[in-house]
Amino acid sequence: MSHDTAPAANFIRNLIDEQNAAGKWGGRVETRFPPEPNGYLHLGHAKSIFLNFGLARDYGGVCHLRFDDTNPEKESQEYVDAILESVKWLGFDWGSHLYFASNYFDTMYACAEHLIQAGHAYVDSLSADEMRTYRGSLTEPGKDSPYRSRSVEENLDLFRKMRAGEFPDGAHVLRAKIDMASPNINLRDPAIYRIKRAHHHNTGDTWCIYPMYTYAHPIEDAIEHITHSICTLEFEDQRPFYDWLLDKLADGGFFTRPLPQQIEFARLNLTYVVLSKRKLIQLVDEKHVSGWDDPRLPTLVGARRRGYMAEGFKRFTDRIGVSKSDGWIDYSVFEECQRDVLNDSAHRRIAVLDPVKLIIDNYPEAQSEDCFAPNHPQQPDLGKRAVPFSRELWIEREDFMEIPSKGYFRLFPPRIDAAGIMQPGNTVRLRYGYVVQCTGCDKDANGAITAVHCDYLPDTKSGTPGADSVKVKGNIHWVSATHAYEAEVRLYDRLFTTAQPGGESGDFLNDLNADSVRVIHAQLELALKDATAEDRFQFERHGYFVADRVDSKPSAPVFNRTVTLKDSWAKAEK
Ligand code: ATP
Ligand code: MG
Repeated sequence: MSHDTAPAANFIRNLIDEQNAAGKWGGRVETRFPPEPNGYLHLGHAKSIFLNFGLARDYGGVCHLRFDDTNPEKESQEYVDAILESVKWLGFDWGSHLYFASNYFDTMYACAEHLIQAGHAYVDSLSADEMRTYRGSLTEPGKDSPYRSRSVEENLDLFRKMRAGEFPDGAHVLRAKIDMASPNINLRDPAIYRIKRAHHHNTGDTWCIYPMYTYAHPIEDAIEHITHSICTLEFEDQRPFYDWLLDKLADGGFFTRPLPQQIEFARLNLTYVVLSKRKLIQLVDEKHVSGWDDPRLPTLVGARRRGYMAEGFKRFTDRIGVSKSDGWIDYSVFEECQRDVLNDSAHRRIAVLDPVKLIIDNYPEAQSEDCFAPNHPQQPDLGKRAVPFSRELWIEREDFMEIPSKGYFRLFPPRIDAAGIMQPGNTVRLRYGYVVQCTGCDKDANGAITAVHCDYLPDTKSGTPGADSVKVKGNIHWVSATHAYEAEVRLYDRLFTTAQPGGESGDFLNDLNADSVRVIHAQLELALKDATAEDRFQFERHGYFVADRVDSKPSAPVFNRTVTLKDSWAKAEK
């Protein structure tokens, strides 16, 4: 798959092309990404961000970043700030087009008075329960409220008193007057304003009535001259109200035609994560994770800390495309995209995650020398770096077996075979260094291996003539023990053990993976000591790692594993 070609066609692009051909918008494409600042952005939002900003970019239009902050209760400045930072991190720039829906409260209010005056809205005084009963059901039509026939003057008077704070919360609501018998329940006189004494992060205590989301959103779009208002499929049944409302307000002279068009697309459903704000808030509040930026969370701040790359998000959203039918995307698709991008860009380094000493008994004690390792095997222009070699090295514990299993080609000591014949210890190449032959190991009182011993073959240094004269089947990595940098490394795994946490009805918390993080102390090559926050590397044989942007200190970075080299879950699932 190529990534620099023209964007793949989808039903929205086809529609825009048709409209442009027909001259509907005069070529204008104006979209918006409208988060409600009531939580942190997550991987699902990234799909919407790439879609909206991507359309604007490709059609020479603009995309607005609009905070849909009409519901004061759960919104906060902390969320506003985090959202701005995440959108920027993904690589998008809203320029001067940063908007807050709460700045339109005056216009929304004026629109409501207009609807009342034109006979399209009324103040209802039924209780919430009564209103529910009057609404009917999917199979039964609703009934008109006894207050539906209030006069324009009475409605206006009541609505102004609602605004003036003369009634308690919930005493009345303003409703659109459409059709209580409509087969679409959303058209059965939906509520458009409610009384709610709540402090708003932007407007403070100016208002004690707030518009409902379904009323506010079309008006926000129309005020900003949005052409294509793209939302997820669950709003499909709201579209008739969206159109009804803007039509009535255009008749009233508030907006001019053509009016913004709502278009629905399938949300991202991703396995092994939860993408519901409510569930994410629960994970954070109940401390199942360390915070919003916990690298195991599918929030964008978590993803960033995990080491995922904005470019990987681009590749992912390109790959999954945009459609009108709901489905699930396997998490491994996301990981694969990230891995592809990291593979291209990350420098290679050496890290021993589960260290055991390898002592080269025939190498002089005080001596050390440089070996040279390429920074990227496919990109020689990225150069090589020196890695010191000395008598004592760290190797992976699993690269030695006292009694080798069948087909094991790494280090094992001399042994007597089934025929009673003494066989020599195995020979491996220390990658970028020498070939060594295993001679034995040391153990503690419990039989645990404390060191492996070997001899090196002096003429076999990588990169020197004749280095390949000795053929070996095993190739292992190492770092010099005297030169190594010991660091904390966090090995992250999926936060949930099941593809759809909680399933249809269960509690998603029951599916938390108890082993979703393992903190280890690893021996890293010295060059890694200079890594600064968000530097990314491939640790050879282990995967991609990032210097943690929160806990790294100068000359003391700690590392997070972003993703393994291969999809380790594909095997487990078989
Ligand atoms: P809620 O409305 O329940 O608070 P939300 O996830 O819809 O949650 P918003 O802040 O309204 O949150 O979302 C902003 C935009 O992101 C919306 O236009 C929404 O359609 C889009 N969006 C949210 N979740 C997804 C998803 N999983 N896939 C694609 N787009 C999404
Ligand atoms: Mg929403």
